[in-house]
Amino acid sequence: MNHSVSELIQGIHRLARGLPPMTIMEVCGTHTACIQKHGIPSLLPDNITLVSGPGCPVCVTAEEEIAQAIFMARQQGVIFTCFGDMMRVPCQQGSLYALYEQGKEVRLVTSPMDALKIAIDNPSKQVVYFGVGFETTTPHTAALAEAVAAQSIPNLCVFNTHKTMPAAIRQLLQKNHALDGLLCPGHVASVIGWEAFSFVSQDLHLPAVVAGFEAFDILAALLRLVDMVKKQSPHCVNMYPRAVSKEGNPQALCLLHQVMEPADAAWRGLGIIQNSGVRFQQEYQFLDAGHRFTLPVFSPSKPKGCMCANILRGEKTPKACVHFGKTCTPDHPVGPCMVSSEGSCAAFYRYKEA
Ligand code: SF4
Repeated sequence: MNHSVSELIQGIHRLARGLPPMTIMEVCGTHTACIQKHGIPSLLPDNITLVSGPGCPVCVTAEEEIAQAIFMARQQGVIFTCFGDMMRVPCQQGSLYALYEQGKEVRLVTSPMDALKIAIDNPSKQVVYFGVGFETTTPHTAALAEAVAAQSIPNLCVFNTHKTMPAAIRQLLQKNHALDGLLCPGHVASVIGWEAFSFVSQDLHLPAVVAGFEAFDILAALLRLVDMVKKQSPHCVNMYPRAVSKEGNPQALCLLHQVMEPADAAWRGLGIIQNSGVRFQQEYQFLDAGHRFTLPVFSPSKPKGCMCANILRGEKTPKACVHFGKTCTPDHPVGPCMVSSEGSCAAFYRYKEA
């Protein structure tokens, strides 16, 4: 059935009338940015609260992983390559951007294959590629690993901090009982398939909707979620069929499984979660940065007062943080959620406070 935006909003109000307060979590940075950009929370009835979860790849990269990245980037003869947002994430040891300003070889790339070219052009240097993100970016890192192995490039390695969503979402929903529904990550679902999130309704008895990235998509998904909450009839529904299938993207998954296998991973705010990341299969392990460097073990640390961990668990919204908009802004981020445009604090700041 076709609806207009105003019909969707009216429908949400009608369905939510008289219901107890409900909290719906989105776990995709692009959804977070879209929700704030279009002021969607202000269009909803007072008894519906939207919270962000661990959907921003920059934000969920653990403090200790950032510290290890900085350790490698400081070494002589190293060119450290990463995506732009990662350069600006602060930690106790500084930031990659600060090293860049000091003249260290920290280079911004827009594709893992840029790192391959840098390695070929600089045979006397050890090039490190910082692999960050979810199932959407992991196949690209797998493609890099295949290319490096096929071309026998000796001077490129991967600092793999990739994470996978389902196990983290399961743990989060099991621990945070205040959540009533889930807006599933559309990009991740396009790779792994919507069925990967069916555990949310089947095992945890919460409604889940895979949604696209227009304001209309999100409102339509919220309408469906509220309807399922009202009827106490949780299902996993794919409302993004133009990009998401039940099984996902077979080429991306095949590449991923050829090169990598499930492993435990450390998440900022969530700790170490079983099978929520990937590691290289044995024949690709020579590419792991941990085999080329003796990496120190850093303890997690956070700036005093920073609530990024609570925000990533859906327990708080950015305005609860004493730093928000004062000592922490996109130009001077104190925590990672203010760095990336997909971070909850950055999205709140940009569309509400700027
Ligand atoms: S406002 Fe800054 S310090 Fe506070 S939670 Fe957000 S990123 Fe962390």
